[in-house]
Amino acid sequence: MTSLRTIALVILAISTFTFIALFGRLPAFRKTPIAFFYRVVWVYFPNSVVYVDSRLLGGRLIRVWNQSGKYILYENHPLVLLFFIGLLAGGEVVFLPAAWPRFASLHYPWVPLVVFMPYFLLYKCVTTSSNITTENHHMEIKRYPYDQVLFHAGYRCSTCNLHKPARSKHCKFCKTCISRQDHHCVWLMNCVGANNYIYFLALLLSLSVLLIYGTCLGYSLLRQTLQEMIPVHIQAEMQGWIMYFNIWAIVIQSDPRIGTVTLLMFMTAPLAMAFLVYHSYLVWAGMTTNESAKWSDWKEDVEDGFVFKSNRGKIQDAQPFIDFNDRPWPVQSDQLLVTDDEPPLDGYILVPGTNRIEYRSDTDMPIDPRWHPVQSMKDIDNIYDLGFWNNLKDSAGISVRRKNCK
Ligand SMILES: [Zn+2]
Ligand SMILES: [Zn+2]
Repeated sequence: MTSLRTIALVILAISTFTFIALFGRLPAFRKTPIAFFYRVVWVYFPNSVVYVDSRLLGGRLIRVWNQSGKYILYENHPLVLLFFIGLLAGGEVVFLPAAWPRFASLHYPWVPLVVFMPYFLLYKCVTTSSNITTENHHMEIKRYPYDQVLFHAGYRCSTCNLHKPARSKHCKFCKTCISRQDHHCVWLMNCVGANNYIYFLALLLSLSVLLIYGTCLGYSLLRQTLQEMIPVHIQAEMQGWIMYFNIWAIVIQSDPRIGTVTLLMFMTAPLAMAFLVYHSYLVWAGMTTNESAKWSDWKEDVEDGFVFKSNRGKIQDAQPFIDFNDRPWPVQSDQLLVTDDEPPLDGYILVPGTNRIEYRSDTDMPIDPRWHPVQSMKDIDNIYDLGFWNNLKDSAGISVRRKNCK
């Protein structure tokens, strides 16, 4: 019982830690304990190690760490990917030979498919690049228009020396700009971007199916073991949680291969499902992980009353809406947004390529009536949001702009 409890606690601790380390920075968790623990993991703990090391060891620990640590933290290395494949394959090698002869025949066609799919999708995620190169740059510039809220035309990546297409981001691990960058995934040793996002979504789905299906199969086999071990009349007398856990601990220990892997699947399934739910939400909202952080900054500015809106028809000196594609993007917006701590006054200048305004000199001019404060994020158009199915099609590389355009 003690060893089983230890294993369960270790798996729970690893799952919780992984969840916080990966998800803690998400805007949804701002001002929650999860964000606090994320900062503990990535900021406070490393800073206190540096402090203690410089005081007690003269910085020796950091020098040693920097030699290996730089590789682990700043290079695109395969260690996490190998750990991931090892966990997947290791679990299957332990579980399947013990469980396969005991499966009901209706599971025989499904189990190989469910086991095979994550490997196939993992391969596609890892090997499909969304890198922006000099060869594909002219196509990438046309992929999305600049919304002039999150992305402005005219910015150049100083490393790649190319104009940044809308929705792209330079990745310091992949050392190149990535088309429709979602995030750099250390599990995949690759960026999740325009060309592999759909494989990434499918991988999350296939892992969730694998873990839930595997948990159900494992549970049904362990129940069989329970029926064989403990007579029915004693089972009927089993009362209370302690008794329940003790009985299951005995069952898992007597069937250790199926028991431990089932426990592992049961405890890691919520992690895969959390990823899947979060990315389904992003598809529904028409944004990438990268953009969700930018939208969250806008949300804070809106809450502080710093965002003002007008439209292009009213503001003559506004930059025109830029769409490099010959056929227009299906969602149009003539909104103009600026951020400032007070409403724009007459005599302001729009700073090109930004959402800022400037004044040439101190001004006591009246408020420009063409601008209104934005009360809620609902008042801001996200032109990249085409609705759930079209967003999904777009992320699969199926062009939605042509068919839907009137
Ligand atoms: Zn770049
Ligand atoms: Zn990357």
